[in-house]
Amino acid sequence: MRLIILGPPGAGKGTQAARIAERLGIPAISTGDIFRSNIKNGTALGRQVQEILAAGKYVPDEVTNAIVRDRLLQDDASKGFLLDGYPRTQAQVAELDAMLAEGGHQLDAVLELTADTDEVVARLLKRAELEGRADDTEEVIRHRQEVYVEETAPLAAVYRERGLLRQVDGMGDVDTVTARLEHALGA
Ligand code: ADP
Repeated sequence: MRLIILGPPGAGKGTQAARIAERLGIPAISTGDIFRSNIKNGTALGRQVQEILAAGKYVPDEVTNAIVRDRLLQDDASKGFLLDGYPRTQAQVAELDAMLAEGGHQLDAVLELTADTDEVVARLLKRAELEGRADDTEEVIRHRQEVYVEETAPLAAVYRERGLLRQVDGMGDVDTVTARLEHALGA
């Protein structure tokens, strides 16, 4: 299966992506995780994106697209994948379409985790205390929500028109949301 999970920051995409991917035996690929591990390891890419992430802005499309292209060519992604945090812009949608077409593949579904803004902001503020992510300050959290609404939320409509969108309520405990996602996938 070739899947995307969309949803605002704090909706629980990462947690759910890991669970669903494990269940399906495919890798969960998170662009945010790839960037954070590069920052942690002090790579050239990490140095390039560090300030962008800390400000809650989007990394330039050409940088992100190149990373995803490489990642999807790795062996473990040959049978499928669950993309978390990509695509996030219209240009990334077009690039992903091209990557898939080159391999003769298609998307099977796009899961959209819906969430209430106040609730996700509260969750992220709590995560800030526990994990200390550089982009989990209140100001940056609010900015990330705005960028999501402007740039990424419209992608749901693109995939709805293609008949791929499955909306799932992301509010509730982790197991409940996982069960909803599995149901949406017909699993
Ligand atoms: P969240 O969804 O909670 O903001 P992510 O881990 O998905 O967290 O992303 C963290 C940051 O990584 C984003 O704010 C952005 O700076 C960068 N990023 C991740 N994916 C992309 C992408 N597809 N395009 C541009 N920037 C991205």
